Amino acid sequence: MSELAYPYEAPASQALFDRAAAVTPGGVNSPVRAFRAVGGTPRFMVSGTGPYLTDADDREYVDLVCSWGPMILGHSHPEVVAAVQDAVSRGTSFGTPGEGEVALAEEMTARVAPLEQVRLVSSGTEATMSAIRLARGFTRRTKVVKFAGCYHGHVDSLLAAAGSGVATFALPDTPGVTGAQAGDTIVLPYNDLDAVREAFRAHPGEIACVITEASPGNMGVVPPAEGFNQGLKDICSENGALYVSDEVMTGFRTSRAGWFGVDGVVPDLMTFGKVMGGGFPAAAFGGRADVMAHLAPAGPVYQAGTLSGNPVATAAGLAQLRLLDDAAYAKVDAVSKEIQGLVTGALTKEGVAHRLQTASNMFSVFFTDRPVRNYEDAKTQESFRFTAFFHSLLADGVYLPPSSFESWFVSTAHDERAVQRIADALPAAARAAAEATA
Ligand code: PLP
Repeated sequence: MSELAYPYEAPASQALFDRAAAVTPGGVNSPVRAFRAVGGTPRFMVSGTGPYLTDADDREYVDLVCSWGPMILGHSHPEVVAAVQDAVSRGTSFGTPGEGEVALAEEMTARVAPLEQVRLVSSGTEATMSAIRLARGFTRRTKVVKFAGCYHGHVDSLLAAAGSGVATFALPDTPGVTGAQAGDTIVLPYNDLDAVREAFRAHPGEIACVITEASPGNMGVVPPAEGFNQGLKDICSENGALYVSDEVMTGFRTSRAGWFGVDGVVPDLMTFGKVMGGGFPAAAFGGRADVMAHLAPAGPVYQAGTLSGNPVATAAGLAQLRLLDDAAYAKVDAVSKEIQGLVTGALTKEGVAHRLQTASNMFSVFFTDRPVRNYEDAKTQESFRFTAFFHSLLADGVYLPPSSFESWFVSTAHDERAVQRIADALPAAARAAAEATA
């Protein structure tokens, strides 16, 4: 039985979780799914349709996670499902080039002007890892700048925490990452251009690239301050380093052209995942053709993958991208705004101090009365209020990310009925947040 603090309220999920824990560390294949930040029984989902997920106990939830971003058309979109079925019927993997991967690359490069060439991989982690290797190979430099609170997947050198001072080398953020791997990484506070300038002054000619989430969603939603991304690009250009924009989360979600479509800052390299895979393991990195020309087999920087450009994954991604026209983005943006208004309205009514932060249709709530500009700010929120808020919504059939340091996601499928379910659930959740104690 579970030792978690929350009531045993989902018996079929709990039984699966107990089985899972016997054969998988912590019972999950990605840590946040285990509900450790909020307690209680993780819901084992058995199906998804439109904006809804159904769990093993046959309870339905309005989904505000959307598989952490990919499901921007909702679950089981008929045209995406049909494209997948068609692809599967022709074979699931060939280990050769195929037209589907060419078509997906053409669709992506047509939408995102700085993406002159693209290489397909299978996960966002692979994309950022490969982009950094390429940046190092291209510049023949070793050091990488990243920002505290930005997540780029579980790449060894990027699982690094800030050292004792700005511009000093980072420390491993998990056992298993060596000092050497972390030691080539410089971790700086987000939204702080002075810190970036100082790092370049302290390490002249050594920094290969600056990698940043195009608009961070992995410390909750913390958009770049006005001019921050352009400042990064300029500092990189002045110092012969590459500006790497991680659009795994924002790509093809925050606009037709992702965050580039919002702020127009031209990266040297970009990374993608989530939406471009239509719910399948597909991701990519790309950018300047002269930089990409350094990648094998065109150039000397090695990178490869058995399932890269998989025909089923590329069919799903292409079908999804082709459905994402201006009207689709207008719909996602509108429903996101509507839900944002309901959430902040309910919390305000109960007198709960909070900040609703947005980046196009991505948003999240911080339980604090101060603006959140970086990870240090994010950590000052009253997360215990989120826990109460989360469990009240879950009990009433609304599925939020099980952590206060995550973006919420909506889809074109979030219709009036789904929004009404959220509206009905919010007053009790806001009361629970107001009454929560640390
Ligand atoms: N980069 C960003 C901005 C992400 O949000 C994520 C995952 O959430 C990744 C990279 C890693 O992607 P994946 O989980 O597909 O390895």
